[in-house]
Amino acid sequence: MLEIRPTCEHCNKALPFDSKEAVICTFECTYCASCAAGLFKNVCPNCGGDFTQRPKRPEHLLDKYPVSKTVIYNPKDVGAHLKKYNL
Ligand SMILES: [Zn+2]
Ligand SMILES: [Zn+2]
Repeated sequence: MLEIRPTCEHCNKALPFDSKEAVICTFECTYCASCAAGLFKNVCPNCGGDFTQRPKRPEHLLDKYPVSKTVIYNPKDVGAHLKKYNL
């Protein structure tokens, strides 16, 4: 089950369970769409994989399957990222 992390790992923007802006990689590294596409050029800075839109968790399941409250805030050096992956 996806954790549905509460924020963008790079800019700490809130990404609630129904956010249309949240994207994830295969390991569920979670970013807002503007960081993922604008800064990281759709390459995950942690694993080098691609991103896809995070599916919304249906609201009626939030009690039974709550979303994560653990903030992971780990801003990246964008210049180093672009260089590393030749973007
Ligand atoms: Zn962001
Ligand atoms: Zn990743």
